[in-house]
Amino acid sequence: MKIAVCVKHVPDAAVTKRIDPGTKRLDRSGEGSLNPVDANAVEEALRIRDATGDGAEGEVVLVSLGPEKAIDSLRKALAMGADRVLLVSDPDAAGSDLVATSSLLAKALEREGADLVLFGQQASDSDGAVLWAAVAERLRLPLISQVAELTLEGGAVTGKRQTEFGYDVIRAPLPAVVAVADSINEPRYPSLKGIMGAKRKQQDVLSLADLEIEAERAGASGSRTEVLALSDPPPRGETRKLEDDGTGAEKIVEFLAEKRLV
Ligand SMILES: Cc1cc2nc3c(=O)[nH]c(=O)nc-3n(C[C@H](O)[C@H](O)[C@H](O)COP(=O)(O)OP(=O)(O)OC[C@H]3O[C@@H](n4cnc5c(N)ncnc54)[C@H](O)[C@@H]3O)c2cc1C
Repeated sequence: MKIAVCVKHVPDAAVTKRIDPGTKRLDRSGEGSLNPVDANAVEEALRIRDATGDGAEGEVVLVSLGPEKAIDSLRKALAMGADRVLLVSDPDAAGSDLVATSSLLAKALEREGADLVLFGQQASDSDGAVLWAAVAERLRLPLISQVAELTLEGGAVTGKRQTEFGYDVIRAPLPAVVAVADSINEPRYPSLKGIMGAKRKQQDVLSLADLEIEAERAGASGSRTEVLALSDPPPRGETRKLEDDGTGAEKIVEFLAEKRLV
């Protein structure tokens, strides 16, 4: 079974996010890391590969679109146990919106021809929670999102999908696209051996030309949206700071009573 996992290099959570006023894009020049929920997708792929036991045939490929330094984040997933990386990186891809991003990733995934394509549910920088739908549509593959439990049997994938009111159980034939929820598993910590071995694993960095994608399909020219303006959120209304001198709980109750909330 070949599993492709789409993973994103995102600005580190500890770094304050900044929008570049010139390009109106998120400044991605600082420290970055693997998008947190993508580690759940990698973990699930590793479990499936190791449980299906199809030996040399079983492979977990990480597929990403991002700057060259994204390799550092992808190595974390390699250290967890993924087999290799396919990073699409090209200056002409900078500024790709959802439409362009989904087109470039779909092209890379077509080349891989995986049985199962896994995504995280949401990227922590843009928070779209939508890319998997666009990619599945481009690949004309069935999609199950928000999956909290996943099983593979008889050439099909079954996903227990978390909803507001409970769960849907959805079955789709392979090949399929699945976006996992962070409740699906607990990602493993890379072992020292895994960390040491990660650098030696295959890491292909492909340009748009390598993927035979015309530059017009990427970056700003391949995008269908444009950020026109950005502004700070409006200032908050009246705020009151309560000092806890040991009577903090009473003060909160008084405040809520004053607002007729209790
Ligand atoms: C005008 C405009 C310009 C933009 N310019 C840039 C830019 O220069 N650089 C940039 O990074 N983003 C840019 N973006 C954001 C980019 O469009 C989104 O990152 C992309 O559409 C994915 O959406 P998301 O980040 O909300 O991911 P979500 O839909 O929240 O992500 C869901 C899952 O998709 C996968 N995923 C998301 N992104 C990637 C990726 N790049 N590679 C592999 N897997 C992925 C992960 O598994 C993730 O968990 C731009 C957006 C706009 C509107």
